Amino acid sequence: MDDPVSPLEQALHAARALVLADLIAREVAEADVVSLVEDSVAQRRWWVEQWPEGAAYVAGLVAQDVQDALLDRYGRWPLCPVCGAGDPHALDVEPELGPDPHWVCHQAGVKVAAVGSLGSASGGMTS
Ligand SMILES: [Zn+2]
Repeated sequence: MDDPVSPLEQALHAARALVLADLIAREVAEADVVSLVEDSVAQRRWWVEQWPEGAAYVAGLVAQDVQDALLDRYGRWPLCPVCGAGDPHALDVEPELGPDPHWVCHQAGVKVAAVGSLGSASGGMTS
């Protein structure tokens, strides 16, 4: 019998999987990038242990942590797939602190995809 997995561990595991899926979708899941995700999950583990009610917020927070870390090392991520013209720009996570995080483009004013579903957002969405 496996030990029961706590909701907290489930939330951390899900956050890790969602952000990795988005990194893979955008083809930046190199080994050192994966370690950025691991670093963020480790920090958020501490955070959510102090505040278990925040478990639902972890995916959005990890996505933002990784986005910030990538900005330092690689540049903007993830680039907006919706706007065809103008300067390339990154998507933002909304809500910054809340459940059910999404990638949004503030220039077009649209939700592009749920965090973890960037791979299915190939641009040109008309909704
Ligand atoms: Zn855009």
